[in-house]
Amino acid sequence: MGDDATRPRMETLAVHAGERRPGPEGSLVFPIYQSTVYSVPPGTPYHDIPYIRLSSTPSQRYLNDKLAALEGAEAGVATASGMAAVTAILLTLLRPGDHLLAGECLYGGTHDFLRKVAPEMGWSATFVDPARPDSWEAGMRPETRLFLVETITNPLMRVGRLREVATFARERGLVTVIDNTFASPVNFQPLSRGFDLVFHSATKYLNGHSDVVAGCVLGDEERVQRVRRTLNHFGGALDPHAAFLLSRGLKTLALRVRAQNENGLAMSRFLSSHPKVVEVNYPGLPTHPDHAHAREILAGFGGMLSLRLAGGTEAAERLIGALRIPYHAPSLGGVESLITRPAATSHAGMSREERERIGVPDDLVRVSCGVESAEDLVEDFQRALDRV
Ligand code: PLP
Repeated sequence: MGDDATRPRMETLAVHAGERRPGPEGSLVFPIYQSTVYSVPPGTPYHDIPYIRLSSTPSQRYLNDKLAALEGAEAGVATASGMAAVTAILLTLLRPGDHLLAGECLYGGTHDFLRKVAPEMGWSATFVDPARPDSWEAGMRPETRLFLVETITNPLMRVGRLREVATFARERGLVTVIDNTFASPVNFQPLSRGFDLVFHSATKYLNGHSDVVAGCVLGDEERVQRVRRTLNHFGGALDPHAAFLLSRGLKTLALRVRAQNENGLAMSRFLSSHPKVVEVNYPGLPTHPDHAHAREILAGFGGMLSLRLAGGTEAAERLIGALRIPYHAPSLGGVESLITRPAATSHAGMSREERERIGVPDDLVRVSCGVESAEDLVEDFQRALDRV
């Protein structure tokens, strides 16, 4: 929708970008085209026949256009999950013998893939600290091809030196890939900051209603089409019904994320002033190690925070049990607040030593703020903390 000078704001893009006007039969809501295949005039080249696995049916093309517009990308492709997105990117860009630099606190599934599956593909990875540019040069090898980071890391909410990552990689001919799940395009748009490819677990903020597993890859036309061809081979396309739900969720993305930014800030301020709370990790707090540059590059600090209580793991479990509003569940980014203890859920596959090395002690509690009233959330935590 328009060039940069006339680019609508995120609220408008979320509602109108990618829309067909008028829609089929004049519909305002783009229909679900559930047909797996389409009848075409004789002589149509085989690969031009729309087919769901090839991500070329109307519901998928509509969603892809909407996703691309939100990240300011030339092209986009939706995938069956966030993991399908990152694995399709790596399978497209890396060859046996290649090496990549990767942020050391990546999402557990991505980290596991790099540690366990990548070596079987003949790739090697060096984990570096995205907040410490001096560690990057040391990780470089002649065969380094790619730099993979996340905008905001889980569960300490670290924000790497993302502008510097893009510059470092460009100067050395590396492709930059960023997982923008935690920030969403409302809070950070990596392509405008020099990144080459963005991906999401659209399961989280993009869909926002905890009822779809999906992912997406966004970037320039040539690379995205190459990723799409990889997905075609590995069968990672998104089903049209899930595509419909995701496109519906996207229309309120800006509203939801702004409410979650406000709740994240209100909750982290309240928690950091509470006498039973000994640590709050939220990039919007001046005490956070990345606060100064997070303020420069992010439009909002997000809805994710983590905390520790004076009473350790037992107190953490009591807090989780005493809360009435947040569900005790992993995952994140939905309209309902969630609370989890990463050592018992997302990071349970690691040994305690490994967890402590990356700064995830057993008593750390992670909160995904939903869109409930900030006052109600604060009151619920106040009441539950009184019982700890
Ligand atoms: N990236 C991040 C930051 C995540 O939190 C997750 C899932 O929790 C993924 C990727 C993987 O996404 P999915 O579960 O949609 O495959």
